[in-house]
Amino acid sequence: MPVQEHDDDPRMPYQLPFPKEAQEEIVVADAIAQDERIWVPQTENVSFRPLCLNRSQGYWMNLLRVRKSGVLSRHRHPQPVHGFVLKGRWHYLEHDWIAQEGGYVYEPPGETHTLVVPDDVEEMITYFQVNGVMLYVDPWGKTMGYEDVFTKIDMCRKHYEEVGLGADYVEQFIR
Ligand code: FE
Repeated sequence: MPVQEHDDDPRMPYQLPFPKEAQEEIVVADAIAQDERIWVPQTENVSFRPLCLNRSQGYWMNLLRVRKSGVLSRHRHPQPVHGFVLKGRWHYLEHDWIAQEGGYVYEPPGETHTLVVPDDVEEMITYFQVNGVMLYVDPWGKTMGYEDVFTKIDMCRKHYEEVGLGADYVEQFIR
Protein backbone atom coordinates (compact mmCIF):
# COMPACT_ATOMS: atom_id res chain seq x y z
CA MET A 1 0.00 0.00 0.00
CA PRO A 2 1.37 3.42 -0.97
CA VAL A 3 1.86 6.08 1.69
CA GLN A 4 -0.99 8.01 0.13
CA GLU A 5 -3.39 6.87 -2.55
CA HIS A 6 -3.95 9.00 -5.61
CA ASP A 7 -6.16 12.02 -4.90
CA ASP A 8 -8.29 12.98 -7.93
CA ASP A 9 -8.93 16.47 -6.69
CA PRO A 10 -6.23 17.71 -4.30
CA ARG A 11 -7.77 21.20 -4.13
CA MET A 12 -11.25 20.11 -3.15
CA PRO A 13 -11.84 21.10 0.50
CA TYR A 14 -12.78 18.51 3.07
CA GLN A 15 -16.53 17.99 2.71
CA LEU A 16 -17.61 16.70 6.11
CA PRO A 17 -18.34 18.61 9.30
CA PHE A 18 -15.63 18.69 11.96
CA PRO A 19 -16.25 16.55 15.04
CA LYS A 20 -19.09 17.97 17.07
CA GLU A 21 -16.96 18.14 20.22
CA ALA A 22 -13.93 19.76 18.56
CA GLN A 23 -12.87 23.09 20.00
CA GLU A 24 -12.53 26.32 18.06
CA GLU A 25 -9.22 27.22 16.50
CA ILE A 26 -7.22 30.21 17.73
CA VAL A 27 -5.90 32.68 15.18
CA VAL A 28 -3.78 35.54 16.47
CA ALA A 29 -2.93 38.03 13.74
CA ASP A 30 -0.62 40.22 15.76
CA ALA A 31 1.20 37.61 17.84
CA ILE A 32 4.20 39.82 18.60
CA ALA A 33 1.72 42.32 19.91
CA GLN A 34 2.28 46.01 19.26
CA ASP A 35 -0.38 46.88 21.83
CA GLU A 36 1.63 46.96 25.05
CA ARG A 37 -1.45 46.18 27.15
CA ILE A 38 -1.47 42.61 25.80
CA TRP A 39 1.91 41.86 27.40
CA VAL A 40 1.41 40.59 30.93
CA PRO A 41 4.19 41.74 33.27
CA GLN A 42 5.85 39.09 35.45
CA THR A 43 8.72 41.08 36.90
CA GLU A 44 10.28 44.42 36.00
CA ASN A 45 12.02 43.14 32.84
CA VAL A 46 9.99 40.03 32.07
CA SER A 47 6.56 39.78 30.47
CA PHE A 48 4.59 37.30 28.39
CA ARG A 49 1.77 37.37 25.87
CA PRO A 50 -0.56 34.35 25.88
CA LEU A 51 -1.35 32.49 22.65
CA CYS A 52 -2.95 29.25 23.83
CA LEU A 53 -3.72 28.58 27.47
CA ASN A 54 -4.61 24.92 27.29
CA ARG A 55 -6.39 24.12 30.54
CA SER A 56 -7.72 20.80 29.20
CA GLN A 57 -4.22 19.42 28.56
CA GLY A 58 -2.31 21.49 31.08
CA TYR A 59 0.13 23.43 28.93
CA TRP A 60 0.57 26.97 27.68
CA MET A 61 2.01 28.55 24.56
CA ASN A 62 3.26 32.06 24.99
CA LEU A 63 5.77 34.62 23.83
CA LEU A 64 8.22 35.40 26.58
CA ARG A 65 9.75 38.86 26.36
CA VAL A 66 12.76 39.79 28.42
CA ARG A 67 14.25 43.24 28.21
CA LYS A 68 17.86 44.25 28.81
CA SER A 69 19.68 42.31 31.50
CA GLY A 70 16.51 40.55 32.66
CA VAL A 71 16.50 37.23 34.49
CA LEU A 72 13.80 34.56 34.58
CA SER A 73 14.23 33.01 38.01
CA ARG A 74 15.68 29.54 38.49
CA HIS A 75 13.03 26.87 37.93
CA ARG A 76 12.54 23.16 37.37
CA HIS A 77 10.52 21.54 34.57
CA PRO A 78 9.08 18.09 35.34
CA GLN A 79 7.66 18.12 31.79
CA PRO A 80 9.22 19.07 28.45
CA VAL A 81 9.48 22.58 27.01
CA HIS A 82 9.88 23.66 23.37
CA GLY A 83 11.23 27.08 22.48
CA PHE A 84 11.80 29.03 19.28
CA VAL A 85 13.75 32.29 19.49
CA LEU A 86 12.05 35.07 17.52
CA LYS A 87 14.25 37.94 18.59
CA GLY A 88 17.47 38.54 20.49
CA ARG A 89 19.55 36.05 22.38
CA TRP A 90 19.66 34.38 25.79
CA HIS A 91 21.30 31.57 27.71
CA TYR A 92 20.90 29.51 30.84
CA LEU A 93 23.33 29.81 33.72
CA GLU A 94 23.32 26.00 33.81
CA HIS A 95 24.35 25.40 30.16
CA ASP A 96 27.13 26.67 27.92
CA TRP A 97 25.06 27.01 24.72
CA ILE A 98 23.38 30.20 23.54
CA ALA A 99 19.84 30.41 22.13
CA GLN A 100 19.95 32.80 19.17
CA GLU A 101 17.35 34.42 16.96
CA GLY A 102 15.95 31.77 14.62
CA GLY A 103 17.06 28.94 16.92
CA TYR A 104 15.05 26.07 18.40
CA VAL A 105 15.48 24.61 21.87
CA TYR A 106 14.10 21.41 23.42
CA GLU A 107 14.25 21.19 27.18
CA PRO A 108 13.76 17.67 28.46
CA PRO A 109 11.87 16.81 31.67
CA GLY A 110 14.17 17.22 34.65
CA GLU A 111 15.74 20.53 33.54
CA THR A 112 16.39 23.15 36.19
CA HIS A 113 17.66 26.43 34.80
CA THR A 114 17.91 30.21 35.05
CA LEU A 115 17.31 32.23 31.90
CA VAL A 116 19.51 35.28 31.43
CA VAL A 117 19.48 37.95 28.74
CA PRO A 118 22.90 39.59 28.29
CA ASP A 119 23.44 43.35 28.68
CA ASP A 120 23.96 43.96 24.96
CA VAL A 121 20.51 42.59 24.02
CA GLU A 122 17.81 45.25 24.28
CA GLU A 123 14.97 42.76 23.98
CA MET A 124 14.51 39.05 23.46
CA ILE A 125 11.30 37.32 22.45
CA THR A 126 10.94 33.54 22.50
CA TYR A 127 7.95 31.38 21.67
CA PHE A 128 7.66 28.75 24.41
CA GLN A 129 5.44 25.76 24.89
CA VAL A 130 5.52 24.91 28.57
CA ASN A 131 3.88 21.69 29.73
CA GLY A 132 2.44 21.01 33.16
CA VAL A 133 4.17 23.11 35.75
CA MET A 134 7.29 25.11 36.35
CA LEU A 135 8.60 24.99 39.89
CA TYR A 136 10.60 27.96 41.12
CA VAL A 137 13.43 26.60 43.24
CA ASP A 138 16.36 27.73 45.34
CA PRO A 139 19.88 26.71 44.19
CA TRP A 140 19.48 23.37 46.00
CA GLY A 141 16.13 22.49 44.50
CA LYS A 142 13.81 23.53 47.29
CA THR A 143 10.49 24.64 45.76
CA MET A 144 9.75 28.33 46.32
CA GLY A 145 6.66 28.64 44.14
CA TYR A 146 5.12 27.41 40.91
CA GLU A 147 3.33 28.38 37.73
CA ASP A 148 0.89 26.37 35.67
CA VAL A 149 -1.75 27.11 33.05
CA PHE A 150 -4.15 28.17 35.80
CA THR A 151 -1.80 30.70 37.41
CA LYS A 152 -1.09 32.04 33.90
CA ILE A 153 -4.81 32.46 33.25
CA ASP A 154 -5.22 34.24 36.61
CA MET A 155 -2.32 36.60 35.86
CA CYS A 156 -3.84 37.45 32.48
CA ARG A 157 -7.29 38.11 33.91
CA LYS A 158 -5.94 40.41 36.59
CA HIS A 159 -3.69 42.32 34.19
CA TYR A 160 -6.29 42.70 31.42
CA GLU A 161 -8.77 44.00 33.97
CA GLU A 162 -6.23 46.56 35.20
CA VAL A 163 -5.30 47.85 31.74
CA GLY A 164 -8.92 48.19 30.66
CA LEU A 165 -9.15 45.31 28.16
CA GLY A 166 -11.41 43.52 30.63
CA ALA A 167 -10.77 40.25 32.49
CA ASP A 168 -12.63 38.39 29.72
CA TYR A 169 -9.99 39.34 27.16
CA VAL A 170 -8.09 36.19 28.15
CA GLU A 171 -10.99 33.89 27.20
CA GLN A 172 -10.02 33.87 23.50
CA PHE A 173 -6.75 32.10 24.38
CA ILE A 174 -8.23 29.41 26.65
CA ARG A 175 -8.96 25.90 25.35
FE1 FE B 1 12.33 27.07 31.66
